[in-house]
Amino acid sequence: MVSKSLSVKNAKNPVQNPEIIKVPITTDQVACDGGHPVLGHPLTYYTFEGHQDFIECGYCDRRFVRK
Ligand SMILES: [Zn+2]
Repeated sequence: MVSKSLSVKNAKNPVQNPEIIKVPITTDQVACDGGHPVLGHPLTYYTFEGHQDFIECGYCDRRFVRK
């Protein structure tokens, strides 16, 4: 039996263009709350690990790119 599914991804709003947020290359942690007080999501922190170039928010698909 598979208890974990990927159905969370299907429940999101149909976003056409996920926002791309550029952050300084020295950034090692970003926070995302969806950028909207009502339509957003709980403030969530993500940490860049190793040579990771970008982080994609699991809630709103925003992508934080290190430049
Ligand atoms: Zn987000």
